[in-house]
Amino acid sequence: MGNQKSRRLILVSNRLPFIVYENGDKLELQESAGGLASSLKSYVDFAKSQLGPKPNILWVGWPGVYISNKQKREELKSKAYKEFGAHPVFIPEKDMDKFYHSFCNKVVWPLFHYFPSYVDAKESFWITYKKVNEMFAKAVLEIAKPTDIIWIHDYHLMLLPNLLRYHLGSSTLGFFLHIPFPEFETFRLLPERWRIEILEGILGADLIGFHTPHYSQYFLRCVLRILGYENRLDKVISKERVVKVGTFPISIDFDKFYNAIGNKKIQKESSKLLKVVGNFKTIVSIDRLDYTKGILNRLEAYEIFLQNNPQWHKKVVLVLVVVPSRIGVEHYQRTKRLLDEFVGNLNGTFGDIDWTPIVYQYKFFKFEQLASIYSISDVALVTPIRDGMNLVAKEYVATRNNRPGCLILSETAGAANELGEAIIVNPNDIEGIADAIKIALEMPEQEQLKRIQSMQAKLKNYDVVKWVTDFIESLFLIKEEQKGFEVKILDKWIGKLIKDFKEASRRLIFVDYDGTLIPFYEDPLDSAPPENVIQILEALGNDSKNEVVIISGREKNILEKWFGTLRIGLVAEHGVWKKESRSQWKMVKRLKNDWKEQIMPLFKLFTDRVVGSFIEEKEFSIAWHYRQTEPQIGSLYARDLLDLLYLATSNLDVQILQGNKVIEVKNSGVDKGTAVLRWMAKNNYDFVCALGDDITDEDMFKVLPDSAYSIKVGLTKSYAKFNIRDYKEALELLGKLVNN
Ligand code: UDP
Repeated sequence: MGNQKSRRLILVSNRLPFIVYENGDKLELQESAGGLASSLKSYVDFAKSQLGPKPNILWVGWPGVYISNKQKREELKSKAYKEFGAHPVFIPEKDMDKFYHSFCNKVVWPLFHYFPSYVDAKESFWITYKKVNEMFAKAVLEIAKPTDIIWIHDYHLMLLPNLLRYHLGSSTLGFFLHIPFPEFETFRLLPERWRIEILEGILGADLIGFHTPHYSQYFLRCVLRILGYENRLDKVISKERVVKVGTFPISIDFDKFYNAIGNKKIQKESSKLLKVVGNFKTIVSIDRLDYTKGILNRLEAYEIFLQNNPQWHKKVVLVLVVVPSRIGVEHYQRTKRLLDEFVGNLNGTFGDIDWTPIVYQYKFFKFEQLASIYSISDVALVTPIRDGMNLVAKEYVATRNNRPGCLILSETAGAANELGEAIIVNPNDIEGIADAIKIALEMPEQEQLKRIQSMQAKLKNYDVVKWVTDFIESLFLIKEEQKGFEVKILDKWIGKLIKDFKEASRRLIFVDYDGTLIPFYEDPLDSAPPENVIQILEALGNDSKNEVVIISGREKNILEKWFGTLRIGLVAEHGVWKKESRSQWKMVKRLKNDWKEQIMPLFKLFTDRVVGSFIEEKEFSIAWHYRQTEPQIGSLYARDLLDLLYLATSNLDVQILQGNKVIEVKNSGVDKGTAVLRWMAKNNYDFVCALGDDITDEDMFKVLPDSAYSIKVGLTKSYAKFNIRDYKEALELLGKLVNN
């Protein structure tokens, strides 16, 4: 559990892990079953077993009720804290309606589950969503300490990470989404302002977790297309932070379910049930009432199965458990009506006095009852239209212990990523599900056992405790990694820099050009140095103690034209060419450029495809610039081009550089780092300084000795020892060195 031993873990979720009820004039809290609360409870129990009765875990969330009486509220607060380490967020009923019933469950839930026609996107819902996220922020801020690990859960609180980041600076924040994250085309159906705020909201976290690699990829793609932040593998560099996006498939308390059949209470429940289902083969179906769960499709498939297979009549029973949920939301009421009708009709059509094909229960079952249903069922039918994970599938597999059992699982449930040994079906393929029911019922026991055991091995290995620890450990890792990206502003070191400069007699100053001495222009040919830049370089060059070197990716002819008459050194094409003050250009290393003709067609293809992009061809490199393109389009194609370039150049002696809105291919073995080292070898310099803004400048920052002043222009991560804000500050700094 890493550092968690000494640090508090604050779990923030919409619901707290208990239900409040009144006992006379006293309030009582009862632990709630199911959902996120029970998953996390397994971890809390584990933490208690490891760390003692007070494992430093706190909850912040909605207690499920609004209490207007101040005294009662205080009573609830103190009971919640004492019994559960919980801090209730009291949300007025009218806000809860617009927040939870409306924005969460009429906008986010249907959209993220690909039911866009069910979305009811009202501005007032959004405003309340923001307001409630702020209430949560306030509640967390009341208790948060800088050393806390704060883990925010789910779609109700997507704005919270950024709200907390604003107040808590570099605190450790994780976010987990328990539902699917949709593809870009679906996510973009949200109004622009909302989708930007939601993505920025989530990106306030240091680590963002999803259940499947697909959800992670869809999220990264939305971040790129909507916010324009590129990602490298699973990291996004958002503004000034690196954020990691990871896949952590939630799991169950495996041992609890696996050992359930040894539990006396559960055995008793099971015998009761067996009396009801008799000798029939049993299929189980358990869900919350939700249109995403595909319960009706499943029933239609069962009906077709019965139609097609009269030999199975009076030999099979479907135990259909539907848990009441989100009562009051229109689409849920409609689903319930349709379900009731369907079950009635099917039982009426196929049933007999001695056979009820569907045993239907519309209620919530506790663990013991649920485990007994799993344990007597030969088949589990889990066919959601769309489901973030689906724990019922995992619970069924675990509860089978050493017995055969067959899982029919929808390919659109997150769980299908891990449970490939199930009979995988498409939830809309009703005939396919009907066939799968027959296959499952008739599958040889040996085959069932083989599949179940293979799935159990995976669930045992990655159970809910592993899920939590894996997430928290990854959170620690990204916090560590962020330290290397910290911005170290030069401001308070400037005095020392100038003093060292003054005292030195042999000074070497490397200066990148574009982005360092001038801002970026849309067309690189527009960016000739203005008068003030020339004056500063000239003055520095004229001081005999100084050696100033412009070190650039540009062609030598351009550098010659702009700076050829000054008393300064020049390095062109990232180190291919060098020229000492007022002497001839020299090629640093014999290079070939015959690879250019192989690569050029790819560059041309992308230039034709992306309006505003263009090729800059130099003697020993080719660059594709996309600064003038629509940002999302440019970045998107840049990723494609990179992909293709890596393939096309695998046998060539070249390297690919990703610069600021530019992709460049050039000979390997030549970079600014090598150029800097060669230059430094000429003399014993007692003051070395290098300024640069781009990724290619990192090569020089990396090789400079510790005593050198390496300065990154821009407030982003760097190997440089210091950061300054922009090119204006770079000029100001160089200006201060003139005449010193
Ligand atoms: N559950 C329960 N009692 C019931 C039905 C379901 O405790 O009568 C629990 C079940 O054990 C599972 C959770 O509710 O842990 C449902 O999680 P799932 O991921 O399958 O669906 P969700 O409801 O989260 O969409």
